[in-house]
Amino acid sequence: MSAQFILYLLIGFVLLEALVSGILSWLNGTWMSHPIPKVLEGLYDEEKYQKQQAYMKENRRVGRIESIVSTVITVALLASGAFGWLDNLFKSMTPSVYGQICLFALFLQLFCTVVELPFSYYSTFVIEERYGFNKTTHRTFWLDLLKGFMLSFVLTAGLVCIIYWLYDKIGDGFWLWATGVCVVLIVFFSLFYSNLIVPLFNKQKPLEQGELRTAIEGALQAMGCRFKDIYVIDGSKHSTKANAYFTGFGPKKRIVLYDTLIEQLTTDEVVAVLSHEVGHYKHHDTLKTMFSSIVTVGVYLYVFSLMVSSPLLPEALGGTAPSFVLSMVAFSQLLTPIQLILDPLMNCVSRKAEYAADRFATKHGHGEGLISGLKKLSAHALSNLTPHPAFVWFSYSHPTLAQRITAILENQKQQ
Ligand SMILES: [Zn+2]
Repeated sequence: MSAQFILYLLIGFVLLEALVSGILSWLNGTWMSHPIPKVLEGLYDEEKYQKQQAYMKENRRVGRIESIVSTVITVALLASGAFGWLDNLFKSMTPSVYGQICLFALFLQLFCTVVELPFSYYSTFVIEERYGFNKTTHRTFWLDLLKGFMLSFVLTAGLVCIIYWLYDKIGDGFWLWATGVCVVLIVFFSLFYSNLIVPLFNKQKPLEQGELRTAIEGALQAMGCRFKDIYVIDGSKHSTKANAYFTGFGPKKRIVLYDTLIEQLTTDEVVAVLSHEVGHYKHHDTLKTMFSSIVTVGVYLYVFSLMVSSPLLPEALGGTAPSFVLSMVAFSQLLTPIQLILDPLMNCVSRKAEYAADRFATKHGHGEGLISGLKKLSAHALSNLTPHPAFVWFSYSHPTLAQRITAILENQKQQ
């Protein structure tokens, strides 16, 4: 295999990914005017349905332009050997490999931010604003961008520096130790996500005493669950869209409700949504996700260890000397087709877990509340009621609203 061949492969993968997502998005568009499933009839009146269709069209248009722009830029960077040129530039700036890693991470981060910025800005302040979803102020937008940038830079550069240090000290077997470091980080961030990351972007406080708290505590007891940590997060700082999630494990587990969820749903509906989250907890879904990310990282690092000392990867990116960073950039690009297979598989697993959590809520008598709650949330968010099945299979982490309601009704009948 020659470096030239690897370069063609890398470019081919970028184009393949763009092609797959383009076809899926096109297929999804062809189903926009399909008849609405029976269980969802009446969710939108005619005027709101027109609004939903227009909202979806605008989002698809922006998504398409963003995909074309990022594909063209990535291919240009690969084909021109720009990465190799940058590698030489950073090497001339500092002899330290750690310094070079930091400079490269900074460049990639800056580059991605600059490419994505016009699209996220337009999406937030034009599209979301026009449809009444946006609550983000300009100050919040820029501050979040800065915080996200710093966080991502520190984590990426730090992790790659640690992996390089292990490679430098241990040699070929470094992947096992690097996986160990990743396990520690994954467990650490799962435990402390709510304490360390969330406060950077949102405020959360325990759910106050009152009717809702009493209803929730009663429901939790009935589900055989002693859960003290129920928090409310100020989702309304960013958007009117509502959500709830379960996070952490062991002593750090907590259920988080968006303030917008409490605003939009009745007490029964909030309790139903929460019981779905309890279902995730009872089924150990957080631990399963954590375990599968650990296995994926371990396999990736092992395969990387087989390729890291080959001069072909840096050469393919235009490098003129062995380079750990270039090898890593090339390797991450080579993962594209694997990710194209893994993503839909992970989504299949995730949809199964969602059905199971809905089943759990239904079993505990919250089927009705869940159906009306989900309907309200979807109607408010102008959700697409007729996504294409291929698009759903590939990219939906949750079953469609119609699928969920049908399954809940079916579960209720069987009880
Ligand atoms: Zn869920």
